[in-house]
Formats: sequence, C-alpha cells, structure tokens
Amino acid sequence: MNIQNYINGKFHNPIENNWIDNYNPANGEIYGQIPNSGKADVENAYNAAKAAFTKWSQTSLEERSRILIKISELLEQNLKRFAEAESKDNGKPISLAKAVDIPRAASNFRFFGYAITQFASESHESVGQKAINYTLRQPIGVVGCISPWNLPLYLFTWKIAPAIAAGNCIIAKPSEVTPMTAYLLGEILTEAGLPKGVLNIVHGLGATTGQAIVEHPEIKAISFTGGSATGAHIARVAAPLFKKLSLELGGKNPNLIFADCDYENMLETTVRSSFANQGQICLCGSRIFIEKTIYEKFKIDFVNKVEKLKVGHPSDAKTNIGALVSKSHLEKVTHYINLAKQENGKIICGGKTVSVEGYENGYYLEPTIIEVKSNDCRINQEEIFGPVVTIMPFTTEKDVLEMANTVNYGLSATLWTNNLKRTLRLSHQLQAGIVWVNTWMLRDLRTPFGGMKASGVGREGGFEALRFFTEAKNVCIKY
Ligand code: NDP
Repeated sequence: MNIQNYINGKFHNPIENNWIDNYNPANGEIYGQIPNSGKADVENAYNAAKAAFTKWSQTSLEERSRILIKISELLEQNLKRFAEAESKDNGKPISLAKAVDIPRAASNFRFFGYAITQFASESHESVGQKAINYTLRQPIGVVGCISPWNLPLYLFTWKIAPAIAAGNCIIAKPSEVTPMTAYLLGEILTEAGLPKGVLNIVHGLGATTGQAIVEHPEIKAISFTGGSATGAHIARVAAPLFKKLSLELGGKNPNLIFADCDYENMLETTVRSSFANQGQICLCGSRIFIEKTIYEKFKIDFVNKVEKLKVGHPSDAKTNIGALVSKSHLEKVTHYINLAKQENGKIICGGKTVSVEGYENGYYLEPTIIEVKSNDCRINQEEIFGPVVTIMPFTTEKDVLEMANTVNYGLSATLWTNNLKRTLRLSHQLQAGIVWVNTWMLRDLRTPFGGMKASGVGREGGFEALRFFTEAKNVCIKY
C-alpha cells in the first residue's frame, strides 16, 4: 500500500517522485512505499500552513476544542483499523496497539481539546507604580513536529494536539519507519472538519524531509522526540535560526528495588517496565538495581516470569513480545548483547533471535536479562532500546543513588519501597524528569513530561505543552 503526503487538506505524491520501501517487521517483507519528501514538498506544506494561520489563530477556543474532541471520537470509532495498521507497521502486539497506542492518541486530542479551554495567563499589578501588566499567550505561527517510531501515533499526536489547540499550524513528520497511522489520520482530520492547511503531514527520511523542516527559516518552533544524537544535531541546526526547541530524547532509566517493597506488584510491574513494546519505550527501566538481601530471590523469580513471555507474531492475541521495528534495529540490539559478553556480562535469560514459524524473516528477539558486575560498562551506560535489561545488586541507599545518577541520561526512574522517608530522599535526589514510586508508566496528561541531561530540553504535557506552543508577551499599562 502506497501512502501520500497530506498537504492543505488533500493527499499528494511527492513532487520529485522519490519513494522509500516500507517493511513489515513481522515477516521482513516490503508491503508498501512512502514518499521521501524534499524541500519543495516541505515548502508546499509551509505555504498551506502559513495561509491557514491567520484564520486558525483567530478561531474561537470552543471551536478548536470541538474539532479536537471530534478527532478523538473518530479515532475511537476507528480503533480496530488503526490498531491493526500500527501493529503491522511497527511489529508491536495488536493487544498493545488496541489497549494503549490508539486509545492514548485519542486521549491526547481529547485532553488538549479540554485543556485549551482552561489555559490562562497571568497578570501582575506593579503596586506603587500605577501600572498593570498582563501576559498574552499567542500562538507561534507555523511549527514543526518530528516524532519517532516506537509509539508512532501516540507520540505524533502528543505534539500535534497541543500545537493545534494553541492556534498554530503545523508541518509534521512521523518516523519514516512507521508512517502508516499518521497517514490514516489525514482522512480523520478532514472528516472532523479541521480546516485545510492547519495540519500538514509530510513523510520521508530524517536526513531529507526532517532536515528540510528544521532548516526552514520560517518554521519558528520545533518539537522533536527521538534519539539524543539526532536531538543534538537538530539543536545545532535550529540554534542559529533562533527557533524555540523542545527535545524529548533517549533514556537509560534506573529501576531501584528495595527489600521492603510490595514484592509481587514490583515483580509483575518490572516485567512490564523491562519488556513492554519489546523494550522500545524511552521510559523502560533498563538498569535494574536490587537490594542485596533479595537479589538471589529476585533473580530466580524474574527469570521465571520472563521465560514465560511469548515471542510471536504481533497479530496473535497471545503474543507478549512482537517483532523489533526494523532489521537494522535488531542488529543494533544484538550487537549490544554481544558486547555484554565481551564486558563479562552474564546472560541469564534470552539473548538469541527467534524464528517464528511462518514468519522466519521477521525481526524477533528473546527478552534478555544480563547480570552485570559494574555500572560503568557500556551495556549499562548506552541506550539499547530493545528487550534487554541488566540486573545488579546494591548494598546501601547511597550506593544505589550514585549508580542511578551516574549515567548521561535523566529521563525517568522507578523506585520500589514502602519507606516514606527513603521515598522522599531518593525522589528528590534522582536525576530524572519523572520518578515513579511503586508503579511505572502511570500517566496523568496534566503533568510535566521530559528529561534532564542527555534526555532532553524542556517539558511537554499539560499546560507545559501549551506554554511551549505559545509566545508569552507582556503588556504593561500605566494608569
Ligand atoms: P531518531 O532520532 O532516529 O528519529 C526520530 C525522528 O527524527 C524520526 O522522524 C527521524 O526520521 C527524524 N530525524 C532523523 N534525522 C533527522 C534530521 N537530521 N533532521 C530532522 N529530523 C530527523 O529516533 P528513533 O526514531 O530511532 O526513535 C528512538 C529514540 O527516540 C530513542 O532514543 C528513544 O529513547 C527516543 N524516544 C524518546 C522519548 C521521550 O519522550 N524522551 C519517547 C520515545 C522515544 P526517520 O526515522 O524517518 O529517519
């Protein structure tokens, strides 16, 4: 199936007629082609967005809200179709796409549809100077949104919903590896009555299409989610053009497990936080530190549970672990497993590719647990972004905090304990944008989302996203 760009409310082939193959990770076969859009396509998208901006930025909040909620309803009505497309394009289990990815994409539109009606700005009376200041929050204009392949529609809509709600017009590029649901979204946007030009979706490689968006002098803000190296490159290109930037980047998240935790809940959640979506979630807890007194027990129980996970075709309802997203990504992950062996890591579960009957060319890998001796090894310091976790014991709170923070990344951390004082001490000292205590991936869309250090710059989520997608202007009136 060939997909097209969605520009000015219509589907178009790329101007230079360049196409890229789209692979089905479950069987390794090409099942369609997608545009590799160039500068001219981005320029067309920009012109459409620019033309739509004046009217859209003046459209009432009630009307914007109504359209966003309509998009959300249409996504829910098309849940099965979107979930099947997402699962096929990405390799993720259909059960996950149905329960998480598509419902969350719908929630993103609904949430920001309501949030914009509650978004307010401040005023400051300059007491003694007979002046009043008020802050205007004005839409930026034309903005760029670039998203990755791991949670394709979920993260795509996480950006575009607040951007549209705040009155901007958009040029958005989904990952070239997983473009399908963003393409299908075009039909829904038209049906929901989103005016043409407000959201333009261009497909293609990061180095061509993505680069053209980031370099475009009139696209004034870029919201990017992806790898840290790409984020650094985008920052280098965007900084001299004085663009507003939001960067949601990689993670190497610690999972700190204390002996006083609720063990069964911890164990079940740790299986999920390690291997959900084949471990391809930026928030997965890939470095697991366990208090020494329960280390041996945890090791046995964890391996037992993980060995029971079923690796299989994404469309099989019983599958827990589907296919990795691409051949090159599978190669990257297996490279790290080999590296672990060189670094004296001990593979205590998994470690091998899997041949699924009937789909022998798919990109399947066993969920893998590696016991490491030190936090300094590359396998504990570099983002692998696959179904691979490391485990190691710790003795004191001080030691585990030190190890948790000794890493370039700072996206999220998970803490398992029933000790309130320790919870507070560690939550405040962990270098992460998000700390989960006795849970994982429990999301409230009003909360700030993002990372520190190499995990990103800025926060999205709730009013933070609406602040990012608006310019604050102070008006000072002397009376
Ligand atoms: P990449 O950085 O490779 O790509 C992300 C997006 O950027 C893709 O759409 C890509 O296009 C595009 N891109 C690549 N090069 C450029 C460029 N020069 N200019 C503009 N755009 C470009 O990340 P992945 O897709 O591999 O996603 C995985 C990464 O995303 C992991 O590191 C993960 O941790 C991170 N991530 C972070 C999250 C967070 O919220 N902090 C959430 C989810 C993932 P294309 O792929 O088409 O080449």
